[in-house]
Amino acid sequence: MTTDRSKELFKRAKRVIPGGVDSPVRAFGSVGGVPRFIARGKGCRVWDVDGNEYIDFVGSWGPLIAGHANPSVLKALRAAMALGTSFGAPTELEIELAEMITGALPSVKKLRFVSSGTEATMSALRLARGATGRERVLKFEGCYHGHVDALLLGAGSGVATLGIPGTPGVPASYADLTIQAPYNDIGAVQQAFERWGNEIACVVVEPLAGNMGCIPPRPGFLKALRECCDRSGALLIFDEVITGFRLAWGGAQKLYRVKPDLTCLGKIVGGGLPAAAYGGRRDLMAQIAPEGPIYQAGTLSGNPLAMAAGLATLGELAKEGTYERLGAISKRMAEGLAEIAREVGVEFTSVAVGGAFGFFFHPGPVHNFADAQQAHAGRFKPFFQSMLEQGIYLAPSPFECGFASLAHKDRDIEAALAAAKVAMRKAARVR
Ligand SMILES: *Cc1c(COP(=O)(O)O)cnc(C)c1O
Repeated sequence: MTTDRSKELFKRAKRVIPGGVDSPVRAFGSVGGVPRFIARGKGCRVWDVDGNEYIDFVGSWGPLIAGHANPSVLKALRAAMALGTSFGAPTELEIELAEMITGALPSVKKLRFVSSGTEATMSALRLARGATGRERVLKFEGCYHGHVDALLLGAGSGVATLGIPGTPGVPASYADLTIQAPYNDIGAVQQAFERWGNEIACVVVEPLAGNMGCIPPRPGFLKALRECCDRSGALLIFDEVITGFRLAWGGAQKLYRVKPDLTCLGKIVGGGLPAAAYGGRRDLMAQIAPEGPIYQAGTLSGNPLAMAAGLATLGELAKEGTYERLGAISKRMAEGLAEIAREVGVEFTSVAVGGAFGFFFHPGPVHNFADAQQAHAGRFKPFFQSMLEQGIYLAPSPFECGFASLAHKDRDIEAALAAAKVAMRKAARVR
């Protein structure tokens, strides 16, 4: 596999963009090698600038659940584009997408569109603080909620991948308001509430953790969070930027039957264009300007192209049997990988929930970030590199999920597993 052109572009990019990338994990820092500069995508495949073809399990980190260059999404985009790209005035598409989302997530009565998941969590946090008159926030180690000042402490995703502290540039007075607990540890949450109960504005949680690998909530964990919040008057915020429309049509809250007060969405709701949203209880959302006093705004919020792509993507997901299909793909990937690891004799654990899957070079179980960090440090890198060399594009970090799309066919999954047999042997050589 030649990567000359990617190498050349990476060198050029590094001169004008920090690390050569616009989001840190893209630089392949923890897996080594040259990040592939992508030229185009179609279905479940992407092609890099050197002409190499890959079966893609990243899907732009989740949004492309309907596949690259999905015909319905492109058609909707062309139609919207022909009418103009942005107006800074309300449009009908925003209402349509808002209605579709509120129809799917019963806890979301009203929502506000923003342009990124970071904006969604930042705004939900401001709303929680404004509505409760409290300042502290409780989050979980290894959960990532975008690069919001108050939520970077102990963050997953790139912060975990790079092993950086997550606080340079964040005023200590902000960080001091953030309480951290281990994921899935309700005892630690109860202790925090005993200590700071009436100062905690909200608990922010990924209802399935997707930024420290893929770690599902243990039975009862989310319900217990709900109870802690109710007892103290804190709000429960589900960051469903990954899980919304990926685990189920109604997101993690539908799957696990726990109702948050506020929900953050992103990734899939923009269908590959920049759109995200936060929403929830009617009385809370009524406090957002101009209905209420808590300010939040955006020049490109509710952008018609992004709304069109989101609507078309959700339209694809609303079809019969899509979640069964997504579930079957991730399950086959997770089980197939575990089977190969068993054959090769590598300590390994994997999981699949809806359209997401994950794995660790760890005997399991993995319930939190500390467990995830105990995974074999050296094995992911050769595994990843071998997969990539064989044309299988996984997230370039052990702290991310794998994402299934409606465009993956059975033969794509079997091709990925055939490659994994080779890659697993390479991983096994690392002691
Ligand atoms: C990706 C992600 C975000 C941030 O979204 P951006 O659009 O990258 O700002 C927030 N929360 C979770 C759970 C995410 O996975």
